[in-house]
Amino acid sequence: MAKAKSSARVLLAASEIYPLIKTGGLADIVGSLPGALARVGVECSVIVPGYPTVLKGLTKPKTLTKWKELSGGPAKLLSGVTADGVNLIALDAPHLFGFEGNPYQDKNGVDYPENPQRFSVFSKVAAQLVMGELGTPAFNVLHAHDWQAGLACAYLKAAGSTVRSAFTIHNLAFQGNFDKAIFKSLDLPESYFSESGLEYWDKVSFMKAGLVYADHITTVSPTYALEIQSDEGGMGFGGLLKSRSAELSGILNGLDTDVWNPETDSEIEVSFSAKSVAGKNKCKAALQKQLGLRRSAKGLLFCVISRLTTQKGLDLVPDMVDYIVSQDGQLALLGSGDSAIEQAFLFAAERHPTEVSVTIGYDEKLAHKLQAGSDVIIIPSRFEPCGLTQLCAMRYGTIPLVGRTGGLADTVIDASPMALAKGCATGVHIHPINGHMLYSGLAKVFALYKDKKLWAKLRKNALTTDVGWDSSAAKYRELYETLTA
Ligand code: ADP
Repeated sequence: MAKAKSSARVLLAASEIYPLIKTGGLADIVGSLPGALARVGVECSVIVPGYPTVLKGLTKPKTLTKWKELSGGPAKLLSGVTADGVNLIALDAPHLFGFEGNPYQDKNGVDYPENPQRFSVFSKVAAQLVMGELGTPAFNVLHAHDWQAGLACAYLKAAGSTVRSAFTIHNLAFQGNFDKAIFKSLDLPESYFSESGLEYWDKVSFMKAGLVYADHITTVSPTYALEIQSDEGGMGFGGLLKSRSAELSGILNGLDTDVWNPETDSEIEVSFSAKSVAGKNKCKAALQKQLGLRRSAKGLLFCVISRLTTQKGLDLVPDMVDYIVSQDGQLALLGSGDSAIEQAFLFAAERHPTEVSVTIGYDEKLAHKLQAGSDVIIIPSRFEPCGLTQLCAMRYGTIPLVGRTGGLADTVIDASPMALAKGCATGVHIHPINGHMLYSGLAKVFALYKDKKLWAKLRKNALTTDVGWDSSAAKYRELYETLTA
């Protein structure tokens, strides 16, 4: 039953939205949260930079505002609806966003020097929009996401606006810290460049702007909300976040369970569900065939779908390959990132061509096939704000082997003796993250797999875990209403 309409009128501001522009989990969340909010009675719009793929995804766009000159060129604010029914507003400024590819970095992984200009302009426009200055009625909540939208909270405060703001940290490791010389161009009061403002070690920090000036801060899991209030997890902002602990909460990300649905997924060989899981074996066989792996129904097929970084602990996995293969296991990897990690995986695949498949790159379709056809996903993250791939994995009955941190700790129930006795385990935790513990975790997975009944139970638990948005969307509604009360 649809919920009564909320009094909150929310503008989400973010730099990515699935499926139009995506580098990671942020896009998934911004793409699926509006629908989830609508189901709990909250109407929202989303503002994103007008990258070419975003502009193409807007049906019948209406021009809200035009600028002859906005930070170096003409610009328009366009409003329309996406194929998924999201009310989308795009800042069409070709001189800032009119390029294809990764929105933040060039092909060599180097940040674009124009990023501070791009995202300060974007944030300023978001703040003006939410205050009702750019061709729409005012909203009463701004929900800004990550450093790219952090300054919007500062612009609202500087304008003395009554619009309330929430700022969500999707990953504290990406902070948007820039040379202080850019401060002048931001058009904010001088006093904002201070320790109690957005200054961070003599730099301007867009992330800190969100952390200081938002009325409420959320992050994407309760455990990460605690971890970031420490020196170790706070990445320079631990003290600040601790000082704001009364206005800081963790709300778990949900999964778009229509995009990730093994019963209807057109990318996978055969559909399956918790009730009828046989199709998963056919997906495994099809995956092995597609990737040129030895056809083996019995051995465990592990997968990795990830940015290849030390955050994700993936530097530890290449050394485990020989062990996995020695246990009749196989590994299929999809990802890109640190070239040393890429090379280590490619070398492993060269040594075991029929047992290890490595695809360097980004491929949504293959990601679905891997989730459907694998037995286990390896996510040994050193820190993980929420993580989505473990949620996708559980939805497809693939057992997550995860670092016990952040959202991984909150969403995967470790196969501890107690959880096994209670019959509620959904995966395996490792802690702390190092090669030894990863090896032990893999050994535990192989041991669990030997007990076919136990493995079937684990799989069933994973398949029936609620990984959708409903309870988190209700928490966001509550937050917006508290902010506007
Ligand atoms: P991140 O820290 O990268 O945001 P998450 O687990 O939160 O990690 O989200 C990653 C998202 O990106 C998931 O939807 C995952 O399926 C997807 N993904 C990651 N790497 C790839 C890839 N190489 N190809 C396709 N999808 C990928």
